[in-house]
Amino acid sequence: MDHPASISLDYSPLDRQAAALGCEIARYKPLAPHTTFKIGGPADRLVTVGSEEQLSGILSVLGELGLPMLILGRGSDLLVRDKGFRGAVIRLGGAFESASLLEDGVTLRAGAGMSLAAACMFLRDRGLCGMEFAWGIPGSIGGAVYMNAGAYGGEMKDVVARVRHMDIDGTPGEYGGEDLGFGYRRSAYAGSGKVITWAHIRAAHGSKEEIAARMNELMTRRKEKQPYDSPSAGSTFKRPKTGYAAALIEKCGLKGRRVGGAQVSEKHSGFIINTGGASCQDVLALMEIVQETVLRQTGIELEPEVRVVGEA
Ligand SMILES: Cc1cc2nc3c(=O)[nH]c(=O)nc-3n(C[C@H](O)[C@H](O)[C@H](O)COP(=O)(O)OP(=O)(O)OC[C@H]3O[C@@H](n4cnc5c(N)ncnc54)[C@H](O)[C@@H]3O)c2cc1C
Repeated sequence: MDHPASISLDYSPLDRQAAALGCEIARYKPLAPHTTFKIGGPADRLVTVGSEEQLSGILSVLGELGLPMLILGRGSDLLVRDKGFRGAVIRLGGAFESASLLEDGVTLRAGAGMSLAAACMFLRDRGLCGMEFAWGIPGSIGGAVYMNAGAYGGEMKDVVARVRHMDIDGTPGEYGGEDLGFGYRRSAYAGSGKVITWAHIRAAHGSKEEIAARMNELMTRRKEKQPYDSPSAGSTFKRPKTGYAAALIEKCGLKGRRVGGAQVSEKHSGFIINTGGASCQDVLALMEIVQETVLRQTGIELEPEVRVVGEA
């Protein structure tokens, strides 16, 4: 099937390169199943790379062709527009989903495509603590570094020692310390075009039982407070300088407010959920209502935390 909007983009060099490198490549692939919101039109190409060699080969052809690129983690912070993404979406699989311990026995080397859940379990099973805060955040290591994901008093910046990445021209590089530019839900990677490939995560020796108990406790708190089983992208808005987005939204009478299939969650007003069949347009319209109402009633501007991508 050809996508009518893509006639002018020539993907044949990319298709050939993917075949030569043995990468999985899908054409006009709906992105909705690849996001936790379950929303989003097709990507012209969805390429899965499993090694640095494959990634470098794909990036160099994308660079030469000047094709737009999006790195997809677990899609848990993404709102993909209904017309989808013109260009190539890249997913990190294979070796990028693996983990090992460095010689010091307390530093995890995790591939950027690995889920945070798998990384947390890897550490827990070896009696290593420090990453329990991330248990229940449905992202990947790469997405969590990119966003400096955090919860319950911990954030990636507390545990990430070094990050390896690849530039659009396929050149590998590394950031550590201040270079990582961590701040509230941001890092030096935002908008840089660099692909995060590996992260070194500092852990410490602890008791397996205590680590497991802390993880269970945090998951219970999450499930009590959040619409964890409804499709969403987590907190829709960043925490404003004063107060909490959820409290402001609730105070403005917006709890349960709907546009089409999108709804301000009845359980946690900080989340917009997809009640079934919501379009990106529904979510964007609801976000606008929330932002306008909160601004009018409280004077506070809510800034989206979810990353909106794709063709408008
Ligand atoms: C139910 C639920 C609960 C959540 N709870 C929390 C929470 O407690 N705390 C929190 O901080 N977040 C939370 N989130 C949001 C989300 O899980 C995090 O932001 C997570 O870190 C996103 O990771 P991801 O792999 O899904 O990234 P994606 O959503 O796939 O991508 C997010 C951004 O990162 C970029 N990116 C992803 N991987 C790479 C890479 N390898 N290299 C370069 N760029 C990359 C993408 O291009 C995109 O710009 C929640 C989401 C849901 C659905």
